[in-house]
Amino acid sequence: MQNELKFFQKLVEKLLQKEKTEPVVEHLPAASITSDLDLRFRDNPMSEEDWQKAVENVVMKTPRTASKLFFNQLFGGRQPKAIVGDLLAVMLNNSMYTYKVAGPQAGIEKTIIKEVCKLAGYTNGDGTMPPGGSMSNYMGLVMARDAKDHAAKRIGMTKQMTLYTSETSHYSIPKNAAFAGIGRNNIRYILNDEHGKMDAKHLQQCIEEDTAAGYTPFLINATAGTTVLGAFDDINALADVAQNFNLWLHVDGAYCGAVIFSQKYKHLVAGLHRSDSFSFNAHKMLGTPLSSSVVVTKHKEQLANSFSNEADYLYQTGDEDFDLGRTSIQCGRRNDALKLWTLWKSKGNKGLEKIIDHQFYLADIAREYCKSNPKYTLYSFSDSISVCFNYHSVNPKDLCTSLYEKGNLMVGYGEFAGREFVRLVTINATNTKEDILRFFAVLELGAVTVSNT
Ligand SMILES: *Cc1c(COP(=O)(O)O)cnc(C)c1O
Repeated sequence: MQNELKFFQKLVEKLLQKEKTEPVVEHLPAASITSDLDLRFRDNPMSEEDWQKAVENVVMKTPRTASKLFFNQLFGGRQPKAIVGDLLAVMLNNSMYTYKVAGPQAGIEKTIIKEVCKLAGYTNGDGTMPPGGSMSNYMGLVMARDAKDHAAKRIGMTKQMTLYTSETSHYSIPKNAAFAGIGRNNIRYILNDEHGKMDAKHLQQCIEEDTAAGYTPFLINATAGTTVLGAFDDINALADVAQNFNLWLHVDGAYCGAVIFSQKYKHLVAGLHRSDSFSFNAHKMLGTPLSSSVVVTKHKEQLANSFSNEADYLYQTGDEDFDLGRTSIQCGRRNDALKLWTLWKSKGNKGLEKIIDHQFYLADIAREYCKSNPKYTLYSFSDSISVCFNYHSVNPKDLCTSLYEKGNLMVGYGEFAGREFVRLVTINATNTKEDILRFFAVLELGAVTVSNT
């Protein structure tokens, strides 16, 4: 083990160095990686030296998501205290299902759940840490289904149930509807207003129509930070509708739900305490390594009711409240709590708030840059960390592809209301104003070659 740890330390230092001088790795066509990188296995063991070379080779050719020029997804950067937490989780290798096996780690997860419930305004709530935001949404959906139809979990679906979500909500919603036996066709996609928020009037109209047609509406899925625009649905307006029709309201805050940590920006999820369940990804705005996702509900009993199974071979010590397997999807479960705890412990509530506020500050810098430069067209609104724009008349798709293939920088494109644009996400809180300005400088240089081809 000592040897491997030394190798690990040396390799990581090399990687950190490389990230500075070469923030974007050379583009490798997917079709040739298996042969180019020698990924296949052999019958005989490898020598230590060859093994180290093989491992180093793939590490160095892997996309650098923590570098200063990675803006491609809704995560990025490294929070050192969280990294150490995650590395320790690997070393400890607990499974989070019982107190017997997880010990204090179960207490850590419970502490996180309790604090998040408090921030969400749920008194006496409960929750768990599923493997990502998609699965958090899944758990919200299943609780909503079971709350509406108590028999569903025993005898299967007996009603045609319908759910309501924004037309720009995350694609995990249709997948989850299929998994849960609801069916993709029983999703009603609610229109957005011009700011990318779900239109509460259209929502109400759809629910009324479905009810009249004999369907059983059961869930409104709100989004705190839509995937493309980073828009926040008006939770209070949706809570009014949910209350009227007795529907479960889930708030998908995978992307930007962590605004609950900011005094300045928590107004974006005003009314959250009126929702029934809420989730956010610490691996997005808070910058922990993938994945660290939290789902909480104000209906403690419903979580247990939907997800617990008695298992005598597992639950043997009577520490029921700390036997977290009673409220999770999985059996064996990775420790996704420790990395968030090591970060939160170190920074305190005020430090987490700073991380959030800084991302909005960087987005303001980016929006200002676009606004003050006539070559840019800006599509996004304030109070979002997704800055959507076009540069000149350069096709956004061609631009992003060219920047990636030439190894200039990594950024993605998106679409709203029939318009395509580049989407810069200022989610890496370790970036500075200069890093954002450098993004534009690199993009502009790269754009020259796109327009000329
Ligand atoms: C990222 C995201 C998800 C999915 O989270 P994963 O952890 O990637 O599964 C769900 N909803 C929204 C709005 C997201 O941005």
